This record gives sequence, structure tokens and C-alpha cells, in this order.
Amino acid sequence: MATILDGKTLSKQILDSLTIELSKLDKKPSLTVIQVGEDPASELYVNLKKKTAQTIGITSNVINYPENISEKELLEKIKELNSDKEVNAILVQLPLPKHINSKNIIQAISPKKDVDGITPENIGLISIGVKPYAYPCTPKGILRLLEEYKINLEGKHVVILGRSNIVGKPLAQMALNKNATVTVCHSYTKNLSDITKTADILISAVGVKNIIKKEMVKKNSVVVDVGVTKVDGKTFGDVDFGSVLELTSFISRVVGGVGPMTIASLMENTFELYKLTK
Ligand code: NAP
Repeated sequence: MATILDGKTLSKQILDSLTIELSKLDKKPSLTVIQVGEDPASELYVNLKKKTAQTIGITSNVINYPENISEKELLEKIKELNSDKEVNAILVQLPLPKHINSKNIIQAISPKKDVDGITPENIGLISIGVKPYAYPCTPKGILRLLEEYKINLEGKHVVILGRSNIVGKPLAQMALNKNATVTVCHSYTKNLSDITKTADILISAVGVKNIIKKEMVKKNSVVVDVGVTKVDGKTFGDVDFGSVLELTSFISRVVGGVGPMTIASLMENTFELYKLTK
């Protein structure tokens, strides 16, 4: 019988202990989120981050820009926030509109305020095995969830689907730092199920409904579902949960799994960056 990797309960524990830590401070840490445009999914995520921050004792400020803001204006704002002593953490909600080069925007964020841990300096530190100012939130949340269930990565074959700069690539590096043998798959990968079937730990961050089916999963493996797809208001993961469940030893659900862990990591990172200024 598979054990559910319960990110909802663990994230609540993390947030509860953060609330206690934060209540001891004279001044609250502050998080600034930049949102461009009116994508409903982004708006939902930004509101959730803002609400969670406020609930636990972090000052959060959301800056909304219209879809047509120029890259130059956005870069100027980031420059201003970088030098603002009242701002400890900066998050630019992705994706950005197509006329803006996200790589330029990310590179402009000060690594010491990079709450999502995705600037070249933080990613570079991870890749040479040095602690960054902040770890990327989703990979950090996934590894914390596995750790909670005493799932050791050492010597395991970890197969990751997806190679984005915010999930797949940093996660691969972080798993490698934990002595896993890592395979990263993407849209050009051939014979995907031949690879996934050899995974001790399979982590899927694609965003294609039910791409992971029963015949692609090894018996007694661990399966983590990161992908989120909305169809007619319903939320689906990358994993065909109903059929895959019986094969696994541990599995996460699309809701109450990695999502809450990402938010908890964001809050922890904001506090970590605040501590750099003390
Ligand atoms: P992304 O930028 O959307 O990229 C998706 C990745 O999946 C790409 O690397 C792509 O390959 C790969 N891919 C696409 N089709 C594939 C296929 N048929 N077989 C194998 N790989 C395939 O990635 P992301 O931003 O990391 O997001 C991925 C998913 O995770 C999304 O659904 C997102 O909503 C979700 N997400 C959830 C959380 C959370 O907290 N729960 C956090 C972040 C993201 P190429 O590189 O070759 O294009």
C-alpha cells in the first residue's frame, strides 16, 4: 500500500514554526512580488503567496504591471528594488509576456534578494556544491518532502521529466549533490518509458495531463507529481494517479503535494535572505 507524500501537512508544520520564529523579530522580513499582465493562474499563485506571507508575519508587496510594460521599465524597477534596504526578497512571477526576455530580468535580480534561487550566481553555487543564498523553491520543497519520509537519494536512480530553469535543471543538480544518479528527460527524449521504468524516484515536471502511466513506472518506486494542468476548472497532474498508485511505495498527489511545499520554501527563503542583512 503506497504512502501519500503529504505536502499540505508538512508545509503547515514548516509555516507554523516559521510563524513562531518571525514573531520574535522587531522588524518583519519583506517580500516583493512583481506580476506582469493578468494571467488568472499567475494571479491566483501571487495572491496565495501574498496571503501566506501576511499570515505568518512577512510583509508582502505585490507590484502589478500591465502586459505591455517594456523590458527597460521592468529592469529599472528591479534595479530600484535591489538597492532598497526595506526589500529583502524579490520574486518575478513567471511566465512573462513574450516581448520581455525573462533571462535578462532574472539576471538583473540581486543574488542576495533572489528568493526563488534562480539567478546565475545562485544556480552556479548549487552546481559547484556550495550553499546558495536561496535554493529554488520547488526543487527545495520536493527534496524536503522526500526527506520528511526518510527517502534517501544516495545511489538511487532519480529520473526527472522536464528541464526548466526553475524546476528540472536545478532539481537535477540538487539530487546529484545528494549522490543520486540522475537522468533528465525532455520533449526530445526517445523511448521515454524505457527510462522512466528504471527510476527508483520519478519526478515529473512537464505539465501534460496524465503523461505518466502505469506501464512507465517501476514496482515499489517513489513518484512525485509536479505538473499542473487545468481542464474545465479541474486540476490534473502529470501522473495518472489512480493507476500508478498501486505500483508505488510513495506517491504525491497533484493537490496537497508539491504546491504547498513550494510556498513554504518561498517563505523560508524570504526569512533566510532577511537574515543576510542582520
Ligand atoms: P516548463 O518550462 O513548462 O517546461 C516543461 C518541460 O517539460 C520542458 O523541459 C519540456 O521539454 C518538457 N516536456 C514537454 N513535453 C514533454 C514530453 N512529452 N515528454 C517529456 N518532457 C516533456 O516547466 P516548468 O515551469 O518546470 O513547469 C512544469 C509543470 O510543473 C507545469 O505544469 C507547472 O505548472 C508545474 N509547476 C508546479 C509547481 C508546483 O509548485 N506545484 C511549481 C512549478 C511548476 P523541452 O525543454 O524539450 O521543451
